Amino acid sequence: MLMQDIFRARQTISAIARKTPLIKSTWLTERVGAPVYLKLETLQETNSFKIRGAANKLLNLTPAEQKRGVVAVSTGNHGRAVSYVAAQLGIKAVVCLSEYVPDNKVRAIEQLGAEVVIYGRSQDEAGERALQLQTERGLTIVNPFDDPLIIAGQGTIGLELLEELPEIDTVLVPLSGGGLISGIALALKSASPAIRVIGLSMERGPVMYHSLKAGRPIQMPEEQTLADSLQGGLGPDNQYTFRMVQAYVDDVILLSEEEIAAGMAWALLKHHLVLEGAGATGLAALLHQKVQPPGRNVAVVLSGGNVEMGTLLEIAQKHRDWGLEIGD
Ligand SMILES: *Cc1c(COP(=O)(O)O)cnc(C)c1O
Repeated sequence: MLMQDIFRARQTISAIARKTPLIKSTWLTERVGAPVYLKLETLQETNSFKIRGAANKLLNLTPAEQKRGVVAVSTGNHGRAVSYVAAQLGIKAVVCLSEYVPDNKVRAIEQLGAEVVIYGRSQDEAGERALQLQTERGLTIVNPFDDPLIIAGQGTIGLELLEELPEIDTVLVPLSGGGLISGIALALKSASPAIRVIGLSMERGPVMYHSLKAGRPIQMPEEQTLADSLQGGLGPDNQYTFRMVQAYVDDVILLSEEEIAAGMAWALLKHHLVLEGAGATGLAALLHQKVQPPGRNVAVVLSGGNVEMGTLLEIAQKHRDWGLEIGD
């Protein structure tokens, strides 16, 4: 893959995915001691960055493929994004979900007009059903991360970061299958190999983290976590993202459930931003001094905001006094 693929993706997706704002966080800048900027991917149409990759993939299908339709396997946000983009383009979409996906995400996908199929106890199991549908109905599988068109779509975030913050030296990116971080890293490292790209995962089932340690993609059981968008394996036959993460990512930081919750509460209470667990991992890492050294110009990708509001309010309630604890 080349930087050129990302420039091409930006042109392709411009009518569907937004260029999102990059805002300076005064609170974090003071706390970290270096300028910290937040990339608000929560403001995309389906409240996550996944619309970028989905748009690039669907717009690159042949007319015959578009006519037969697409199928996606998803912990939620990828399915929402594929459903939304498909509806925009008049393409039929089927979404396969595991039993662990929260209700709010299932309903959101149905409302977007896709057919939902619930199957299995993990993303990989739901994937078996998608393979069957591919054969039975001739649908094209839209992989959530391991596809050059998806990676290039997510990489457009890297282009926007470079344009708005040319002096960027560190970027914090939530990491699951690795499509998001591979695209962003390709863009940033092409501009300057000195830019640090740091991945963020949860302590509960960080598949890419352990795969990097093992030197090959491994399988792990899924665990319940606040960062449910970071659940899932690397796929049975990972072709792109494992090697790209191996080549480009400088470090991977793991966050506890408490740290992720603190990041979500902090985003709501201090910035009035609604973040899901995965989207709050970068804030959680900075708040808990887990990025060492923190860097001189830091960008944090707030990847998504699809959280059940009751869950978020409960977490915020528990952390109401937390602002005092961090010394403001
Ligand atoms: C999918 C997703 C991620 C992880 O992206 P990968 O490309 O699988 O690494 C992070 N945050 C949110 C909100 C997501 O939906």
